[in-house]
Amino acid sequence: MARRKIIAGNWKMYKNIEEAVAFIKALIPSLTDAEVDVWLAVPFTAIAPSKEAAKDANITIGAQNMHDAAEGAFTGEVAATMLLDAGAKFVILGHSERRQIFGEDNAFIHKKVVRALKDGLRPVLCVGETESERDAGKAEEVVKEQIQQALEGILAEEAANVVIAYEPLWAIGTGKNATPAEAEQMHQTIRRIFEEFYSSEVAQATPIIYGGSVKSTNARSLLEQENIDGVLVGGASLSLDSFVEIVHYKRLANV
Ligand code: PEP
Repeated sequence: MARRKIIAGNWKMYKNIEEAVAFIKALIPSLTDAEVDVWLAVPFTAIAPSKEAAKDANITIGAQNMHDAAEGAFTGEVAATMLLDAGAKFVILGHSERRQIFGEDNAFIHKKVVRALKDGLRPVLCVGETESERDAGKAEEVVKEQIQQALEGILAEEAANVVIAYEPLWAIGTGKNATPAEAEQMHQTIRRIFEEFYSSEVAQATPIIYGGSVKSTNARSLLEQENIDGVLVGGASLSLDSFVEIVHYKRLANV
């Protein structure tokens, strides 16, 4: 079964409303012949205007985080239903910046995944090992543990809405990316984990995307791997030119 590639941008804490809308309006004309799905995880404040700007285009707007509670006295937090209300269709959960800077652990991420699925928001669950874990030969074990804990108790029909983003920590914002072969190997492992936890149908249908210093110079060779179903792009998604180049990765030189 052919899985359509997802080119997802993670804008992190960049772009105000005007900048977000201008980016999307300028992006739309270059998507007419694109054979991929474009997703943009924008700052909370830009979700509704981005959704409006993207309304007639194949651009899915999402968020970068949420709280696991339905609502409540959680000053400064945002609920899944609020994100949906603003126009988000997906939410990045467990990004390494949330894990490392804000101390989010697998148990908290699990609660968020459960809430997102329950409320109808598609979770993009980020997993990945540190450099020392990879050097110690523990990369697959760490990733398996992250997936197992995040998806604990989640049934196959719900798991079918999960997207996995494999983002090795040593590759995020560092300019060092996993080689296509390294990334492909981990993506195969993740698909096997889904097969083990669920079924081969769920495993085959689950989008597994790669993130970590993706740019126009390496996007094509990563995206041509069989089990790499897309990319999650941080830095290179902030500039329209580089993002459009990645969207049209088939036109890039294959290096
Ligand atoms: C990210 O933040 O998800 C990411 C992959 O960042 P970058 O592309 O800048 O490494």
